[in-house]
Amino acid sequence: MSELLPYDPQRLAHCAGEIIVNVRELAARGWTPATSSNFSQRIDERHVAITVSGRDKGRLTEADIMVVDLDGRAVATGLKSSAETLLHTQLYKRFPEIGCVLHTHSLVQTVASRLYAGAGHVLLEGYELLKAFSGNTTHETSLDLPVLPNSQDMHTLAAQVDCLLDRRAIWGYLIDGHGLYAWGRDMAEARRHLEAFEFLLACELELRKLQRPHT
Ligand SMILES: [Zn+2]
Repeated sequence: MSELLPYDPQRLAHCAGEIIVNVRELAARGWTPATSSNFSQRIDERHVAITVSGRDKGRLTEADIMVVDLDGRAVATGLKSSAETLLHTQLYKRFPEIGCVLHTHSLVQTVASRLYAGAGHVLLEGYELLKAFSGNTTHETSLDLPVLPNSQDMHTLAAQVDCLLDRRAIWGYLIDGHGLYAWGRDMAEARRHLEAFEFLLACELELRKLQRPHT
């Protein structure tokens, strides 16, 4: 690779490797249907490795990972990243400690986003698995997962996310009829948060089914 690249190509290769391995596993669970979803990892303070738009997430190779700057512009490539790149880069830009952002469209996430869109949030409380979220040391806590209205205008969505982040520290949010964003300081933490959200949302949906009055 060219020595003129503004980022360390070895660090990119490392990030690409981690994204490929982890995303294949998430895709195998059916969380990335029909080339949806996108994933990124921080390379350095100015660059992010992110999946190329429209690729099958179950079959990613290094050619499916590209570099963008913190404004979402492609760096040293003619490839195009997801339309949602801005939702990734706004997190890296705002929080230097964030190292990984994972966005999936699982059935559970999508159904839950529809069900709780009116309320604008899903209250998760009393679950042992709340300890999976960084900073939580007990299940005797609650976590409010925001649900944002969907929009094809990423600047509108990003502005809504910024408002949320102004108010409190969160590890993820749902978008109505769309899916989940989750993040962490590295791939392992982001994945733990993503899996915890998925499991807790599945619990909430299951409880709703069981509690439905008989007619
Ligand atoms: Zn999406």
